[in-house]
Amino acid sequence: MAKFYYQIKGRRPAKGPYGEAEWAWPPVFSGMVEATDRKAAKATVEDQYERKFPSRVLRKDMEAHEYLLHIQPIDESDTYLLGRFESRSCKECGTAFRLIDKYNDPHTETKSHDYCTEACQTAAKFRDLSEFRLASEGRSPPVIYQVRQKSSGRVYIGQTTQPFTLRWWQHLSNPTSCKFHAALGGSDITDWEFSVIEVIAYPDDCTNRAAYITERESHWIRVLSSVETGFNTVRPAGSIDPSQVLLPIADPA
Ligand SMILES: [Zn+2]
Repeated sequence: MAKFYYQIKGRRPAKGPYGEAEWAWPPVFSGMVEATDRKAAKATVEDQYERKFPSRVLRKDMEAHEYLLHIQPIDESDTYLLGRFESRSCKECGTAFRLIDKYNDPHTETKSHDYCTEACQTAAKFRDLSEFRLASEGRSPPVIYQVRQKSSGRVYIGQTTQPFTLRWWQHLSNPTSCKFHAALGGSDITDWEFSVIEVIAYPDDCTNRAAYITERESHWIRVLSSVETGFNTVRPAGSIDPSQVLLPIADPA
């Protein structure tokens, strides 16, 4: 058995008295059938529609035919055509969809390969753009965050000028030998809570933003005794953790 791609094209009537009828694009319907050869594939499609379709129509005979059937074999390596029949999940909302169903729906909002609807496509584009812009302009507000181990109550305090979820991810994905990462690596993720405890708002007379962020971080490390009883190793002395410099961030100073 081989796979065949088929398209049923509909006739579009002539526009005006001097125009000619044409086979309209996009096709009325596109699909796939499995058959031993092209002839059997055609028979299968005609069975499904309970009617005959011409595969070729002379221009002078156009008025006599409403539809035209185009059939082509699909090579097993033709991922372009086969991909239309595969189930994909929307990168924004996770809804499963097939491209072929979009192509067959005259009211489809988007033929995007990645998103199910126009709304999802727009939402994703907007979020990506705004996150990137905020980060690259250094406008994503720096935060002081806390990572707390539920079973022990011990906390780790950190600062970041990146979207804070990225910092949390970095702790999980780039473990070092510090006591915080050792504890994180040796336990279940369900034992941990990540939260933002302060969004940095610079005072009007602030002259050194990096120092101010570090001052706020020190404040929380002191208040929560996270060096003595938690996972912080040292009190922060100066600049921002260099391991955080991943995205193009404007100098906050
Ligand atoms: Zn979606």
